[in-house]
Amino acid sequence: MMALKNFPERVLIEKGCEGLPYTQEILSRLTCPRVEIISDVRAYLKQIVPAPSSLSSGKRTLLLMKNRGRFIKRCPGTRHHLCCLYLVLHHAAGCPLDCSYCILQAYLNNPYIVFYVNVEDMLAELRDVFSRVSGTILRIGTGEFTDSLALEHITHTTRLLMPLLGQFPNVFLELKTKTADIDSLLGGEPRRRIIFSWSLNPEAVVRTEETGTATLEERLAAASKAQSASGGHPIAFHFDPLLRFPGWEEAYTGVVRSLADAVDLSRILWVSMGTFRFPQSLKHIMEERFPQNRLIYDEFIRGEDGKMRYFKPLRREMYAHVLRALRSVRPDVFTYLCMERDDVWDEVYGFHPENNLRLKKMLDERCLESLLSH
Ligand code: SF4
Repeated sequence: MMALKNFPERVLIEKGCEGLPYTQEILSRLTCPRVEIISDVRAYLKQIVPAPSSLSSGKRTLLLMKNRGRFIKRCPGTRHHLCCLYLVLHHAAGCPLDCSYCILQAYLNNPYIVFYVNVEDMLAELRDVFSRVSGTILRIGTGEFTDSLALEHITHTTRLLMPLLGQFPNVFLELKTKTADIDSLLGGEPRRRIIFSWSLNPEAVVRTEETGTATLEERLAAASKAQSASGGHPIAFHFDPLLRFPGWEEAYTGVVRSLADAVDLSRILWVSMGTFRFPQSLKHIMEERFPQNRLIYDEFIRGEDGKMRYFKPLRREMYAHVLRALRSVRPDVFTYLCMERDDVWDEVYGFHPENNLRLKKMLDERCLESLLSH
């Protein structure tokens, strides 16, 4: 986790944000980074060399600025694919970790790790949205535009959100991560509504494709701690992206065995599965930044949402394989497919949720059951 220890090497601050209390808090947690005030962020970002050349140095730079748009977004979802309709908190953009397959490399319009310091605006918007929803579960995640916990040691975002969450008993926060340093968050309230979730891949993949992230063993040890700490947080896992490489079958079976050894599978919220998918524009970025990488040279088909994916029979085979492995250790484990077509659901599960709302309801019910079981 050296990438995080040394992050950031440089801090850029949008002029006008340097005096904000949250900026000052963040700066007080950093050890001697170079700080520059940027008078016109838009103009500054315009003159940056486009990806991929700027991405590696961009990942070592923290940009503190104002978010002038909405903080809460719907999960981008994709056309013709079932989506669980969770909300995404856009509090940051970019990730100091460096997964070769990370879609953010192609998706974001600047190479820096952006954190929005107008947190009062963020909290006001959250309060407004939360107070307008009643009688239904609301799931929100911080892990769509960054890793949920990769910046936590600097920004304390989760700690900032906890008191607000405490006031809205129907809201669940999912922290999706590939890190393992969660000790300072354990036992935080509302404990039963803060979901820690880990993306899992075989250790060989972690080493070669997920630079800077915690090892598989560290992630599982953290998950075990989260499950047992002070009565336990709900935990979840994501086999996403499932990757194809020689020996993938045994490798993923091995991950499932390690998972079953590390945590009590009867008490996990869910396991999602999603196969490798990417916009065409990611290909040349991966080729340039990760020249040894072979993942990109597989056979892909362009989906109806424009993203490249493995062929359907192969996706079905991968899901069925992981599902079999999971069910062999815990027959009633709750799993779902992330961004998949209904015919693939049919082939893997023998049914598909009739629409996105139905899939949302399935996950909401898991949240409720987990609350009621305590
Ligand atoms: S941890 Fe997630 S957000 Fe960060 S680089 Fe890897 S895939 Fe991207």
